Amino acid sequence: MPAPKKSPRLHPDLAEVLLTEAQIRRRIKALARDIKAAYGDGEFTIISLINGAVMFTSDLMREIDNPVRLDCIRVSSYGAKTKSIGTPQIIHSLTLDIANRDVLLIDDILDTGKTLKLVTELIRKLKPASLRTCVLLDKKARREVPIEADFVGFDIPNKFVVGYGLDFAERYRNLPDIGVLKPEKQNAAAWATG
Ligand code: 5GP
Ligand code: MG
Repeated sequence: MPAPKKSPRLHPDLAEVLLTEAQIRRRIKALARDIKAAYGDGEFTIISLINGAVMFTSDLMREIDNPVRLDCIRVSSYGAKTKSIGTPQIIHSLTLDIANRDVLLIDDILDTGKTLKLVTELIRKLKPASLRTCVLLDKKARREVPIEADFVGFDIPNKFVVGYGLDFAERYRNLPDIGVLKPEKQNAAAWATG
């Protein structure tokens, strides 16, 4: 007898899956083609905002055959919250010299825009030859700072999402799909007793 068709996985803490692993994979291939068209065959330096952009960066850069260098910047996170509060801070900055280099900055999600503004201002001070930005997700409805990314994977609604690198209180980064966290899982108290 043929094996029964597998129903799509839904993690018990998710209210819905917004983007499946297969959808993400397909979109990344198309993004890589757009990026390739912008840079030609030249070398560029990828700057990834960790931890959120780790999965996206590693999948995207494997679709790109240009010579690339990789560096990371760590920006302060939400902690166990679902809304950004105050101003993000740079916790760990670059180690590579990016003066006169073409730079591609990669983040998981563009939300209020504060993070991308902070980091692009820092990078511009280091005088790169060029700077482009790429985000997997864009929550346009939440923008507070007028900033857009040059390459966007998906526009998504104003919902708190986890999976594929995105966390809540450091959990769920390893989910292969991107989904909306159930409301009852969106408070720190839900994790307090472990
Ligand atoms: P922004 O500074 O644009 O408000 O926020 C960007 C950062 O906030 C992202 O790098 C990401 O870490 C976090 N963020 C924004 N929206 C979400 C979301 O829906 N889910 C998760 N897990 N993180 C988010
Ligand atoms: Mg982030």
